[in-house]
Amino acid sequence: MNKNISVELLNEIVQELYHKYKGVNDGSLATYIPELAKAKPNHFGISITTIDGETISAGDFEAPFTIQSVSKPFVFGMALEKHGMDHVRSKVGVEPSGEPFHSIIKLDTDSKRPANPLVNAGAIAMTDLVKGTTQKEGRDFLQKSFEAYVGHPLNIDLSVYESEIDTGHRNRAIAHLMLHFGMIDKEIEKTVDLYFRQCSFIINSSDLSTMAATLAKDGLNPKTGERALEERYVKSLLTLMLTCGLYTYAGEWAFNVGIPAKSGVSGGILGVVPGRMGIGVYSPLVDSHGNSVRGVKVFEELSQKLKLHVLEKNP
Ligand code: GLU
Repeated sequence: MNKNISVELLNEIVQELYHKYKGVNDGSLATYIPELAKAKPNHFGISITTIDGETISAGDFEAPFTIQSVSKPFVFGMALEKHGMDHVRSKVGVEPSGEPFHSIIKLDTDSKRPANPLVNAGAIAMTDLVKGTTQKEGRDFLQKSFEAYVGHPLNIDLSVYESEIDTGHRNRAIAHLMLHFGMIDKEIEKTVDLYFRQCSFIINSSDLSTMAATLAKDGLNPKTGERALEERYVKSLLTLMLTCGLYTYAGEWAFNVGIPAKSGVSGGILGVVPGRMGIGVYSPLVDSHGNSVRGVKVFEELSQKLKLHVLEKNP
């Protein structure tokens, strides 16, 4: 990307992309968490926050949705800060799984560690590492840590949270399997509860872009100046986002888009352009991989137009 690109030009491009893709109605709402099926299919928000803390947005950038799997790299970062690299790596791999996010197979056949922190098994193992000694301690820690990234108080969507508690048996099964292998602590219900809560934080596309811009600025929130993550761990989060961030589309994404990113089944995608900007897109119609259809299109075009692929030589 040309480093001198102006905020005005960025704004023009964002508005253009919004109008170009708002009529695309491919994909469907995620239904496996029943509450997610209530999202509004036409909602579509695009936001970019620069590392100077300026945000430009188009469309429904204030439309609320639950963060879901976009929370995963951030909790990996929290685990790294709490326990250091060696301990965290003894609990989780860094290998793309090639399996859907909720797969339990890799855990069983390989090293007993989940493939990486961005599939459910690995994410639950990371939540286990940050859960603290009491339920309140774990909840407060997550709340405070995510608030440092968004720069304002966050709420939980209780109906989504309860919906996951009622229906999240596969995640409980994953936790039990990890307990069987001695990979997580025996208080499974506490860990899974906290995992469901971390997935239920309410954000919007503007928040996504601020969280991404915080990683783009080496862990410093560009709006508040608060440090959300130690600089030395930023690279580790971004590497996983580049290789494992888009479910079973991760390889295509790295090839075509090349922006470290994470998607969630509620329709959010967050992308980090190191040293430049954070990008957030929300549109709840998702494809067969679980990625927002309009979101993928916006990122593909932004990457090409502005030359944002991390391996592309900058002008
Ligand atoms: N809470 C969801 C689950 O664990 C997250 C899914 C996702 O966004 O990938 O099933």
